[in-house]
Amino acid sequence: MELYSLTLTQAREKLARGEITSVELTEAVLDRIGRVEDRVRAYLYLDRDGALARAEEADLLRREGRAGELLGIPLSVKDVLCTSTMPTTCGSRMLENFIPPYDATVISRLNDAGAVILGKVAMDEFAMGSTSENCAFQVPVNPWKQGYVSGGSSGGSAAAVAADECFASLGSDTGGSIRQPASLCGIVGMKPTYGRVSRYGLVAFASSLDQVGPLTRDVADCALMMNVIAGHDHRDSTSINRGVPDYTDALQDGLQGIRVGVPAEYFGEGLDPDVEKAVRRGIDMLREAGAEIVEVSLPHTSYCVAVYYIIAPAEASSNLARYDGVRYGFRDHDADTLIDMYRATRSRGFGDEVKRRILIGTYALSAGYYDAYYKKASRVRTLITGDFSDAFAKCDLLASPVCPTPAWKIGEKSDDPLALYLSDILTISANLAGIPAISVPCGFSSDGLPIGMQMQAAHFNEEVLLRAAHNLEQRAGVVGRKPDLS
Ligand code: GLN
Repeated sequence: MELYSLTLTQAREKLARGEITSVELTEAVLDRIGRVEDRVRAYLYLDRDGALARAEEADLLRREGRAGELLGIPLSVKDVLCTSTMPTTCGSRMLENFIPPYDATVISRLNDAGAVILGKVAMDEFAMGSTSENCAFQVPVNPWKQGYVSGGSSGGSAAAVAADECFASLGSDTGGSIRQPASLCGIVGMKPTYGRVSRYGLVAFASSLDQVGPLTRDVADCALMMNVIAGHDHRDSTSINRGVPDYTDALQDGLQGIRVGVPAEYFGEGLDPDVEKAVRRGIDMLREAGAEIVEVSLPHTSYCVAVYYIIAPAEASSNLARYDGVRYGFRDHDADTLIDMYRATRSRGFGDEVKRRILIGTYALSAGYYDAYYKKASRVRTLITGDFSDAFAKCDLLASPVCPTPAWKIGEKSDDPLALYLSDILTISANLAGIPAISVPCGFSSDGLPIGMQMQAAHFNEEVLLRAAHNLEQRAGVVGRKPDLS
């Protein structure tokens, strides 16, 4: 097998045994990027020289007998995470040449673990979107099918991992942005519990929903990445001070004694038949692995999209107020007055979807409408969270689809924001409730596009998700299947 096709776990073992060096590994991945990137279009910024220097350093450290969880492993990160040595654009003209003065905590953790960060990957502008088509610079392509979306907003991360252009990536998930692209690109993606991973240095979209997490080739790699990024950070006031287990330990067991809930509301109207078939087959595999399957209900599911599309834009309108052309980022230099400068900067710096969200959010928060929209949405959010508490009294995890359909054509829904918002229906509730969720490949559509299964668990129960996902992965026979980019 080519070096760039290994899983992170396999690459790590080969490095540890001295069979390969990090320089060889990094060169293999850079070469792979050179050969396929014109069709994948994942990288907004590639730091070849920096990566090779880091790889040399990693090899030196290893020769000195030093270890690190990710020593010498080439990774990519979504361009929403602050990096002090590379630009951080958030896929926006507003931050086109912005180099942050500090590293996000998760970036420092990757660096401390010895990872080789190759570069920054594409995303929807400020993480708003479900296809990465809202990126101001380029649209990543699904490695499984030319002309198809890789999902969003962490579409660059998913495309890069699926195309073997890095061993893993970090993304962010506010309403499904890790899980949905992972599902559409046939890889594993996890949104951890809110507060499990530091948000310090994650450019804010909707602060009560945002969470950083890994996108990986398989579940073991996901557990390894979680070991590195999870943990308390005093710089993030919403980060929780609670011990971090060794997530790889969760992969040992079968599913005896585990109850898997199947929420009827997640198999409703609009679900693609291929997706339903693959996910139901996946649920059968969980049963074969020893799990007990129970029917559950999440009665407020139909309100999730409406609630999310009030709360997320409300928080976004507040978070994005800082981009005013004064302190950093893009500024329109032609304006004569301060107010004109603000107006021109924000009109030209932001794309359409971001402006739409700012308008919706500002409206929902305005004096006359606050009670009718934001306050009501916050109350329904509590009911949605309550649905999960009730469900987790009856089961250990919930199994469902991730996205109602497999990937679609680039451009197919880009003029229809509502259709895109509706496609988030199965992922946004985990963010509203703050619970962990994973997407794991479970099959393919009749035309060869990957399909993922979502599993959700109670707060801080990432281990049961990894355990179930690992069992599913062993049985589903889809790991190791790669898109043809030759
Ligand atoms: N698709 C959702 C949105 O557009 C989720 C985005 C995300 O998770 N960052 O808001």
